[in-house]
Amino acid sequence: MRRSHVLISGDPISLSRGAEAIKSAFDAELAFYGLTDEVTVAFTGDLRVASTQLPAVMVYPESVVYGAIAPNDVPLIVGEHLYKGRIVQALLITSQPLTGAIVRVPAREGALFAQQRVVLARAGVINPDSAEDYIAHDGYTALGKALTQMTPAQIIKEIIDAGVQGRGGAGFPVGMKLKFVAQAQGERKFVLCNADESEPGTFKDRLILEGDPHSILEGMMLAAYAIGAREGYIYIRGEYHLARERLENAIAQARALGLLGEKIFDTEFSFDVHIHSGAGAYICGEETALIESLEGKRGEPRIRPPFPTTFGIDGCPTAVNNVESLANLPPIIRKGAAWYRTLGTAKCPGTKVYTMLGDVNVTGLIEVPMGTSLRTVIEVYGGGMKAGKRFKLAQTGGASGSILDASFLDVPMDFAELASRGGGLGSGALLICGEDTCVVDLTHVLMRFFVAESCGKCVPCRIGTTRALEIIEELQDGHATMDDVQQLERIATNMQLASFCGLGQAAAVPILTGLRFFRAEFAAHVEKHCQVGVCAMRGELNESEDASQKDLPLVK
Ligand code: SF4
Repeated sequence: MRRSHVLISGDPISLSRGAEAIKSAFDAELAFYGLTDEVTVAFTGDLRVASTQLPAVMVYPESVVYGAIAPNDVPLIVGEHLYKGRIVQALLITSQPLTGAIVRVPAREGALFAQQRVVLARAGVINPDSAEDYIAHDGYTALGKALTQMTPAQIIKEIIDAGVQGRGGAGFPVGMKLKFVAQAQGERKFVLCNADESEPGTFKDRLILEGDPHSILEGMMLAAYAIGAREGYIYIRGEYHLARERLENAIAQARALGLLGEKIFDTEFSFDVHIHSGAGAYICGEETALIESLEGKRGEPRIRPPFPTTFGIDGCPTAVNNVESLANLPPIIRKGAAWYRTLGTAKCPGTKVYTMLGDVNVTGLIEVPMGTSLRTVIEVYGGGMKAGKRFKLAQTGGASGSILDASFLDVPMDFAELASRGGGLGSGALLICGEDTCVVDLTHVLMRFFVAESCGKCVPCRIGTTRALEIIEELQDGHATMDDVQQLERIATNMQLASFCGLGQAAAVPILTGLRFFRAEFAAHVEKHCQVGVCAMRGELNESEDASQKDLPLVK
């Protein structure tokens, strides 16, 4: 039994800042003090600290976190903390237990904020490369319970009763989707994990996969048992190298332990998982385009119906679920639907993982109960607005998300509440913008993205995004009229109504919500006035001023 555990943040930021060298320094220093047999050192996932504090190191059993660590800090931590038992105050960012009240430790900025973690409960706590660590923290107990005590129908009922909705953005009930696949005719059925997280500003699925890869495998196994599938695929974004490595390792470990393969837990249930890397197209996050790509074809959406629940991979019934959705299944089966419903709101139970970025002091990943307001997210977890800026807007859900004004600050954020007010929760990105953000400029950045990512299959999206971008550029140039603004609204409305798939439908959302909540700002641009001064009005500025203005970043 080791007396202490040292967990080093093993995310891409920490690795790029020398986390490997920190681990080597710990190994060498522990050997010097003769502590190698008493202290374990391992990488872990998200340690819940601000990115400015990475690499970070957590030491158990004290649960203290040291931030912005360099290899030359390691002798002090080993000599003082691990050898003499004295916490190194100068490097400390928090000594907060993982589930207590919110505490800021003044020694360094970027405190560890207490969150209500369900999906990310083990991220930053276990070594993600260790199946034993996962099992020691309740891992695979839900699978054991399901296979030995529950029928597939009982699994589906429990998930329906929990009321968990898909966390990929659409919010479709996960249990109903599993029920449809279970009821569909077909010898072969599949579980498909959509890990092609391509929404700009969204990286929650990557951090779930990097921090707790076995939880996704367990979620897929539960779904497979419920619908009668023997095979599963994880379609992962091509750039997610570390997440893929950890998934491959987890799959190999699960196979070695008999948790994947034939007759799992000596039951009749057999299941295995394969990984497929995406090639970088945003459209492949759309479930039918993803399936086309997985089958080796060009990643373009299919006509729906038939839906993947009856006609998915190779024409077989397929349950397609997002990473976060699948990560919710093990705790639901382990603790029950009644427990799950104690979290979040009545209409949207559970928690939501957000990636927060923009004009807040602390950016990064948080998990909070559904219904947590924007104000709480910004003030508590974001550490307030950056540099004392005044809040102007939030874009929820990434590039295709709603642009919301200050009237949404105290609205309980969940799928139902935001939808009832003309907004949307989306996949989990929260872009927070201060008073120096121009809404027209923001829609310009977004529309450039959609013009590039439209697959070109249908006219409303292919031509609509291009024409919308042209009008926005005319507004920025000071050449547009109010007729052009109305035309922009008509185009966006038609894109939403007539586009073939969700990409074109959702590309209209920032334009329509931007116009709904900030119409006066569009009208001001018609009068050749950008309140923030980031849009270069060609009618007023000379070419050199124009060029320098155009290069200004979106969020300063
Ligand atoms: Fe392709 Fe856009 Fe049409 Fe979807 S809406 S099929 S992405 S052109």
